[in-house]
Amino acid sequence: MTTLDPALAHALNVRLVDHRQLGAEPADHAVIQTSTIAALLDTKYDGDVTIGEVLAGGDLGLGTLNGLDGELIIVDGEAWQAPAEGPVRRVSADEKTPFAVATRFITDEIVEIDSPLNHGELLDLLEQHAPQQSGCDAIRIDGLFPAVHVRSVYRQEEPYPPFADAAAHQVEWHYEALRGTVVGFRFPHAASSVEMAGHHLHFISDDRTKAGHLLECSVGPATLRIEAVGEMRLELPPGVELPHPSEIPSDSQLREVEGGG
Ligand SMILES: [Zn+2]
Repeated sequence: MTTLDPALAHALNVRLVDHRQLGAEPADHAVIQTSTIAALLDTKYDGDVTIGEVLAGGDLGLGTLNGLDGELIIVDGEAWQAPAEGPVRRVSADEKTPFAVATRFITDEIVEIDSPLNHGELLDLLEQHAPQQSGCDAIRIDGLFPAVHVRSVYRQEEPYPPFADAAAHQVEWHYEALRGTVVGFRFPHAASSVEMAGHHLHFISDDRTKAGHLLECSVGPATLRIEAVGEMRLELPPGVELPHPSEIPSDSQLREVEGGG
């Protein structure tokens, strides 16, 4: 029997659901998620949820595909994959994901970024507009990115290596002067057992040819949209349990292997 960490349940109002329920009963200001970041770090690279099921529950989000096959970007109700081998491609509804989080994005707040911000300034801005109490926020930034540094991970073969080993062979790309969109989330520390605490952002260019997990960028002029999220519907694939609090990786361990933020 999986029990919820009370701090997590309080911080995110987590409800465990079956994968067929991810798209049921549309709810505003909620995120849906399959599996946990701790399970992903523990080599659970194959999930039971289809991209179609994720898209039924959210039109903006991120994650990866089965086999830890590249970076997943969900924007405007479409799922895109940035494979390490390239090129960026549209993901079909029957493909499966071992880790994804998405929301039916609603704009609660708009912030115009008039002149370019470096990455640290962007994170400060996101922090200023983060929820003060519980919950998390979903983030969308559209505009000009003078510099973008993204990465992707290679599809893994069984027996699966630890995430840190897979990430050690990641591919990184540097781009300049791209128009595009950043999608992502900011989760509170109490969510560390299921999510990457802090910011987790993915990028995709307007022409859908360049994408990945965002390591660093400069941005502006651009429009930042924020949704305050107060609920999480969490699906756990077979074999995945919520981690015991003593097994929860520290934020710094996660940053080391996940990068970005
Ligand atoms: Zn990522």
